[in-house]
Amino acid sequence: MNLIDRIVQFQTDIEAIRRDIHAHPELSYEEERTADVVAAKLTEWGIPITRGLGKTGIVGTIVGGSGSRSVGLRADMDALPLQEHNQFAHKSRHAGKMHACGHDGHTAMLLAAAKYLAETRRFDGTVHLIFQPAEEGGGGADAMIKDGLFERFACDAVFGMHNWPGAAVGTFGVASGPMMASSNEFEITVTGRGAHAAMPHNGIDPIMVAVSIAQNLQTLISRSKRPIDTAVLSITQIHAGDAYNIIPNEAVLRGTVRTFEMEVLDLIEAGMAQIVEHSAAALGASATLRFKRNYPPTINHHEQTLFAASVMREVVGEENVRSNLEPTMGSEDFAFMLLKRPGCYFFIGNGGGEHRMPGHGEGPCMLHNPSYDFNDALIPIGATVWVRLAERYLAAG
Ligand SMILES: [Zn+2]
Ligand SMILES: [Zn+2]
Repeated sequence: MNLIDRIVQFQTDIEAIRRDIHAHPELSYEEERTADVVAAKLTEWGIPITRGLGKTGIVGTIVGGSGSRSVGLRADMDALPLQEHNQFAHKSRHAGKMHACGHDGHTAMLLAAAKYLAETRRFDGTVHLIFQPAEEGGGGADAMIKDGLFERFACDAVFGMHNWPGAAVGTFGVASGPMMASSNEFEITVTGRGAHAAMPHNGIDPIMVAVSIAQNLQTLISRSKRPIDTAVLSITQIHAGDAYNIIPNEAVLRGTVRTFEMEVLDLIEAGMAQIVEHSAAALGASATLRFKRNYPPTINHHEQTLFAASVMREVVGEENVRSNLEPTMGSEDFAFMLLKRPGCYFFIGNGGGEHRMPGHGEGPCMLHNPSYDFNDALIPIGATVWVRLAERYLAAG
């Protein structure tokens, strides 16, 4: 591996920051202390900062040479509402909050890169270090964009990195095109007419309507969209009634839709409205659909993906970079940045969990699991890739 020696030298200092952030997790848009830590370090290293984008977001700016090109490197800072099962020294100090997605590590890797880039400045242009809030469902990337992120900090391209448990340390995964899916949620409220369960003809049974809607909705996946388009529609809740002998007035269905293309999403949302309305009408009931689009699909741009993969290969070797990764139906709010700027989002292997210290929880070291911990061995690897990516992107001449 071609790690930058200087980063390996100060790795333990960055590890200490990572564990400090891990011990003090903050939920979406509450990353005040985390932002203070980031701001203090960037300032200590002579990097000018701008705070308050997307409430708690920070941008650090490093200029090298006189070139006009610019690049944005992004890390997320928020934690999850989860009770940590680990008992090691840097376990969460806050009940019910935990860095179970490794955003503590993402912040640390970008800090390590920032320190080195500020010390050396072997590039011709501007690097914007984007520390964003609220990746876990809060749309922090979108909030920073709405606060003028790309107007105030020109970025010719943006890049994002996420750790991936299960993939070996020293490996990377990326794909051109779809990496992660759009994330959307829906709620369907069916209104019937309650009755005695022994006399159903006196009412309109909303449960039968809910069952009919649930079945009909799956035809959007199997019959309406093109077979080669990927989409999933999952009903995850059906709530109705609370007695053995009463037909209730109402039933509620909730769930999620994931797609890689906005056109497919448009088709499914429109189809859902049709099915919900007419399935209910066919049985004499009425129903309403509330559909909320959360994150768009994360679509990597081809040229920037080839570029990023070439940087990863340079750092960890050809055989350790998988550039045709299967996309996942998970979602990621870096998608909002990729709608505004060309760029690439990629995965860095977090290993199988062997790195965890004694006292870790019994569960697997997987994202969003209470026994997870970010692997500190990734700090010099991820930071080296960040540095090389910036240096190559802003190479002189
Ligand atoms: Zn997460
Ligand atoms: Zn995450």
